[in-house]
Amino acid sequence: MNLIHHNPFRILGVTANASLSDRKQQANLIAQYLKIGQNAKLDFDITPPLSPIERTKELIELQSSRIHSTEDKIMHSLFWFVQANGVDKIALKHLTKSKDIDKALNDFEKGCRGFVATPISYSSIINHSTLQIIAYRRHKNLNKLKEAISNKFKIVSDLKTLNLLKGLVAADGMNTTVDRILELTLPKLKELLYELVPEENTDKLILDIFKSNKVIYAGLENEVIGLLVEKVTVLISKTESSRGKLLKSNFSSSILKDIPLLGKKLVEDSKIHLENIESLIGKPDSNYTNVLQNLFEEVNFCGVLPFNKLIEAINDVQSSRSSVIKLKKDAELSHIIALYKLAIQSLDGFTIPIKNTLIENLKGIGEFELEETCSFCNLNEMNESRQVKIPMYKFTDFIKSQYTYFKDGGVAVSCCSSCYNKITSRKVLSFVIAFAVYAGLAAVTSGVTLVIDGFFARFKLYTFWSSWVKKKIYYSEVEKHPVIRKFVLEGYEFGAP
Ligand SMILES: [Zn+2]
Repeated sequence: MNLIHHNPFRILGVTANASLSDRKQQANLIAQYLKIGQNAKLDFDITPPLSPIERTKELIELQSSRIHSTEDKIMHSLFWFVQANGVDKIALKHLTKSKDIDKALNDFEKGCRGFVATPISYSSIINHSTLQIIAYRRHKNLNKLKEAISNKFKIVSDLKTLNLLKGLVAADGMNTTVDRILELTLPKLKELLYELVPEENTDKLILDIFKSNKVIYAGLENEVIGLLVEKVTVLISKTESSRGKLLKSNFSSSILKDIPLLGKKLVEDSKIHLENIESLIGKPDSNYTNVLQNLFEEVNFCGVLPFNKLIEAINDVQSSRSSVIKLKKDAELSHIIALYKLAIQSLDGFTIPIKNTLIENLKGIGEFELEETCSFCNLNEMNESRQVKIPMYKFTDFIKSQYTYFKDGGVAVSCCSSCYNKITSRKVLSFVIAFAVYAGLAAVTSGVTLVIDGFFARFKLYTFWSSWVKKKIYYSEVEKHPVIRKFVLEGYEFGAP
């Protein structure tokens, strides 16, 4: 209530358009009281409901500097009383003598002529609204308070009525503009509202008061929203710079956690500001969707950039299988995925471009498989130390008996432990079966087959038999591997030529 309680005209004990002689008279009166050590009780103290003023010589002297410029005079008179006509005179008399606020409000209301600001009504509107603000502490009627402020500011947001007020309180002062007065008075009004109604959001209240005032609303909205947007922008920049630092160095699996957590913090810290913006202007406003777009672009970076860095690191070590497997094994994508889910959830009900990007990136990252599965069973995780080698060859020139084959024991393929055991045991089994059957046949025929095969066919029968068994039991199994199958289709045969 400083604006009214410590209004320079109140301290001087006069109306805002009091003549110089009136002012001098009041100053003398105050001085005389001070001489005998008393506090003057003046007509315009309006105590109660306003609390008393402790007037001192210094306080009185200070006031003329507070109402020096045209703008100062207009601002302080706007939150005080003026006497421009007979209606004001009568109503002010009622107020100061009888201190009957309701009666005075009634009198002023008659002069307000339906609260349309005209040369006849503007002074009553100022007086009525000032008194209504003073009465708020008593009636606590927020709608009456809002209406009073709205009416009051009609006077200064229209140049015609502003000039009328200027003519009344600063007739010989320099000209001023509506913008200049609003620039000066709106911050003061905010302070006043905060003092009177601390339980309400002042920005929301002030936007609500001026929603039908075209001159004030547009500028006010930009200012209020601009401040909130700025708060979010600062948070975005902070995140961007921390993220940049973490991404500068070489890949480390910790960035898959630390950077998404930066994004998560950004979403959490911005929440209150976004809620404020939304409550002030509502969802469809472009000011709001623009800030959301910027915010979630940064959140997207906090998810996709560390992921890209992982992919780069994997590509860099592609030649070393064990390094690739180690990178994938240490990588943890749950933080990135959680961040994307949080972001998409936060954008529920909005259609902005970044939302689709977030959805697509979540899908892509979610589908990325960190663990390689065994190609034999397509079930278990690959075990790096388990490798089977399959001998394979292919004739390049059948006539000349020229062929190509895999050195070091054959094509090496990795697999899971379970498949490794299964495949090696089949290899052993195929040998055991082939040998047992051959030996059994030799025993049954008392060695005749052995002699014939050995002497006449140089064991071709055994070679043929054992490779047939191996094919049925062992190669049929390894052929399930896509790499081996590819070589078979290219014309490779199992075994050595
Ligand atoms: Zn397997």
